[in-house]
Amino acid sequence: MKQVVKIMGIPFPKITMDETLDKLSRVIEQNNSELYHVVTGNPEIVMACQHDRQLRSIIDEAGLITADGIGIVMVSQIRGGSLPERVTGCDLLFKLLEEGNKKSWSFYLLGADEATSKKSAEVIAQTYPNVSVVGRHHGYFKPEEDLEIVNEIQSLAPDFLIVALGAPYAERWIHKYKDDLNARVAIGVGGSLDVLAGKVKRAPQLWQKLHMEWLYRLMKQPSRWRRQLILPRFAWKAIFYRESNSSN
Ligand code: UDP
Repeated sequence: MKQVVKIMGIPFPKITMDETLDKLSRVIEQNNSELYHVVTGNPEIVMACQHDRQLRSIIDEAGLITADGIGIVMVSQIRGGSLPERVTGCDLLFKLLEEGNKKSWSFYLLGADEATSKKSAEVIAQTYPNVSVVGRHHGYFKPEEDLEIVNEIQSLAPDFLIVALGAPYAERWIHKYKDDLNARVAIGVGGSLDVLAGKVKRAPQLWQKLHMEWLYRLMKQPSRWRRQLILPRFAWKAIFYRESNSSN
C-alpha cells in the first residue's frame, strides 16, 4: 500500500482518483473470492471511530479508505501529510460507471428510495449502455429482509456492490455480510444515487473548485445543518490530534 496519512488515527493512503480507479480495475481483473471493501472516509466516520471500536475495526479491515471531503484533505495538508485530492463516493461512482462502460462491468445498486433506485438504473442504462445493472433494491428494508437481499446479491455476483444507505450504516452492512455477498468490490456511497437519479443536484463545478460544496449542500438541504456542525469540531480536533504512531 502507498504511503499513508493518519487523520485522528485513521490511515488514509495518498491516492488520487485515477490511482483508485486503477486499483479497483486490478481488483476486478484478479477476480478474488474475497470482497474488497472501499470506505469513503468522511469527517463523520473519522469522528465516530474515536468512540466506536466496532466501526474502527471495520475501517481497519477495509481494503481501501479514500478521502471523502475537502475537510479530510485540508487537515492532511495543514498537518504536513498532504493527501493528493478528494476521492468522494459520488465522484468515484461516476468514474466507475465511465470505466465500467469501457470494460462491461456489472453493478448491483442497494439503497435510496424505490423511485430513486429505479431511476438510477434507468439513467445508467441510458448513459452507460455497456454497464449492466444486474439487480437493485431500495434501502428502506427491515433487518429481517437482509438475508433475502444478501442471497440475491450472492446469486447475481456483481463486480460492484454500490451501497447507498448512508454512512456508517452502509459500512456496517457491507462488513456484516462480506463473506456472503459474492461481489468483487463493495462501496458505501452515501446519497450518490440521489445525485445520479437527479433527485439531488450536485454543487456546480465552480463551487466544488472553491471547496464550497458543503455550503451549497447546506443551502439546498438546510435540514443538514445539525449534521454539518460536526465539520468545525472535526477540523479543530483533527488539526491538533496527537497521533501515537504518526506516519505523516
Ligand atoms: N437511505 C436508505 N435507507 C435508510 C436511510 C437512508 O436507503 O434507511 C438512503 C437515502 O435515501 C439516501 C442515502 O441513504 O439516498 C443517504 O444519503 P445522505 O446524503 O444522507 O448520505 P451521506 O452522503 O451523508 O452519507
